[in-house]
Amino acid sequence: MIQGHTFPNKKFYVGLQETPLMTGKNLTTPLQFLKGVGEKRAELFEEELNLTTFEDLLHYYPFRYVDRSKFYTISELSATPTQVQVKGRFTRSELLGTGNKKRLTARFTDNTGTVECVWFKGLKYISEQIKPGVDYVLFGKPSIFNNRLNFTHPEFETLQTFLNKTAAPFTPVYPLTEKIKKFRINARVIQKLTRELLQELKPVIRDHYPEEFRKKYNLMHLYSALQHVHFPENMKTLEQARFRLKFDELFFIQLFILKSKIKRESAIKGIIFPNVGHFLNTFYKKHLPFELTNAQKKVIKEMRHDMKSGLQMNRLLQGDVGSGKTLVALMIAFIAADNGYQSALMAPTEILAQQHYKSLREMIGSLDYKIALLTGSTKIKARRELHEKLRNGEIDLLIGTHALIEDEVKFHKLGLVIIDEQHRFGVAQRARLWRKDIQPPHVLVMTATPIPRTLALTVHGDLDVSVIDELPPGRKPVETHHRFEDKRANIYKFMRQQIAQGRQIYVVFPLIQESEKLDFQNLEAGYERITKAFPAPKYKTVMVHGQMKPDEKEEKMQQFVRNEAHILVATTVIEVGVNVPNASIMIIESAQRFGLSQLHQLRGRVGRGAAQSFCILLSPYKISQSTRQRLGIMTQTNDGFQIAEEDMKLRGPGNIDGTQQSGDPYDFKIASLTQDQSILILARQAALEILKKDPELKEPVHKPIAKQMNQRHPKEINWRQIS
Ligand code: ADP
Ligand code: MG
Repeated sequence: MIQGHTFPNKKFYVGLQETPLMTGKNLTTPLQFLKGVGEKRAELFEEELNLTTFEDLLHYYPFRYVDRSKFYTISELSATPTQVQVKGRFTRSELLGTGNKKRLTARFTDNTGTVECVWFKGLKYISEQIKPGVDYVLFGKPSIFNNRLNFTHPEFETLQTFLNKTAAPFTPVYPLTEKIKKFRINARVIQKLTRELLQELKPVIRDHYPEEFRKKYNLMHLYSALQHVHFPENMKTLEQARFRLKFDELFFIQLFILKSKIKRESAIKGIIFPNVGHFLNTFYKKHLPFELTNAQKKVIKEMRHDMKSGLQMNRLLQGDVGSGKTLVALMIAFIAADNGYQSALMAPTEILAQQHYKSLREMIGSLDYKIALLTGSTKIKARRELHEKLRNGEIDLLIGTHALIEDEVKFHKLGLVIIDEQHRFGVAQRARLWRKDIQPPHVLVMTATPIPRTLALTVHGDLDVSVIDELPPGRKPVETHHRFEDKRANIYKFMRQQIAQGRQIYVVFPLIQESEKLDFQNLEAGYERITKAFPAPKYKTVMVHGQMKPDEKEEKMQQFVRNEAHILVATTVIEVGVNVPNASIMIIESAQRFGLSQLHQLRGRVGRGAAQSFCILLSPYKISQSTRQRLGIMTQTNDGFQIAEEDMKLRGPGNIDGTQQSGDPYDFKIASLTQDQSILILARQAALEILKKDPELKEPVHKPIAKQMNQRHPKEINWRQIS
């Protein structure tokens, strides 16, 4: 059996090419007009599988295939999770029970043994098909029932019918709902309809790629690919067909992204920063407290290059927590200042904005570079003064939260916008920045959520990517352990020892919207448990969560920052960016409920000071194998990229933290971002190659490609609005 993969049951118009002079059936013909469908079934298809047109059904791909070339003997059978087929005869069948319990049983024999068959539905129809003395092919999943081999709801047909079919050895299996199966629409019905469909559409389907292109990238003709994905002749043609269809899905996304990017680059001129001067040089020589890591040097160089290229920079800076992104941001802000431009740095929370403000001020020391802070709590008078200075160009770097993008904030010459931890900033918020100036500033988006390469190329395919893949020297990796909740007493003992050594501790609880109420109770119960185990006045514990008033939250947070509390009990509000180097223990309650990337982010809160840090993942004893595996990954590696890759493999690309706001990570029918990385890279290369020759896709040979792209991705990206 060949495993495919499932795909979401969602409408998706693929938009194949059609010949202009079509009469009769075409891709948009409603399914009810396909032979064998009719009104009733068409309704079912629409309701249950979201299929309405010929085209929809054509792209309703099998999710696996069964090898029908192999027969088993009954003596060979055992309970297996796979479907098998046997040849033989029915020896007896009878209808048993009444009402709900009604069932049909039969015995099926070859000369090696006997199996029991049982059906609970469609009894009349099935019993009519069972005839004594006739050879049948029986197909189903063997199981053991009452110590005997049994088939529940097997399919069967006469051997003659089986032999008469020009059946391909691989039989497609389609994802179907229970309801549709009740109406006796099974895999076999779909097969029949699909065969009919392929016949009807044969004159209509044209390949959108030129022959030469197909040869170059080894792509099967589109029609053959569709034929073979439903009815493969063998493993090889199946693979070729799947490759072709996956390529299509990935290619048109890349083409769309890259074409938009090229368009943006030609339409929007970037501000040119040719100089490095006073600020950067003085800081580098006199104020920088440590050596830059090689990775920091590399990414700064990449950005410098962007900012003098004449193109507008749109760059994503990825770097694990603690890798020193803030310093990089400061250095490129100096470059802007050296060329007479101001910069803005946006943080997702007020606490973070304040931390940036404080640490950057400390870092620049006596340098005559003016940094200001603007947040929601900046008082009106101070705010007015600040606006004034900003307009006069007396401020070089404005740090803030979203208050930064309010309309009354006007810059003298804004040249660079840096967005920290971008996943808290939606596309719409970024769009507001855009309107601030006629000439758009360079944009740097920083994130500590490592994004797997395939995902970065699709979701952020228009951004250039820089990666800091090295931590500053001297960091001790956080030691991570997974413990069961019944070991809490031991953990408390460990916590007391650490507190005695002057350390501080985070205890984090999940608070997830869907189960908010229950989670909240857990959080409060957890807080009580801890204050009991760590009684005042010897110990001080504070709690913060999202439902608190901002002031109160802020105050509690600050107590912890100032080392006035030993333990901070919190929800994931502390996830992003908070910096308390003295906190060296991270305890995560119900760790099984967090995604890997989120666990990694939380863990990044510790390991910032000189002390050895620890992260303890608590979970109940009873967790699934895959959860155990997931938590195991955390204990084995501190590498954010590896964790992100594993997370994507386990949860699928749609669920990765930090991408939800970036638009739908595409609704693939056959391609998979986790499995088809090499096809993706090939498709991107192919797209680039075409665009290099013909950026507007205007040449006649590329017209069908352009049309196809527009059908699949009808929205133009508006670069004036979206960075
Ligand atoms: P993040 O990438 O998570 O935003 P930060 O910029 O907050 O990381 O940096 C974490 C800490 O590392 C800060 O205290 C910063 O001063 C320090 N740091 C940054 N670069 C270096 C370096 N090259 N060498 C030593 N320490 C550094
Ligand atoms: Mg940071």
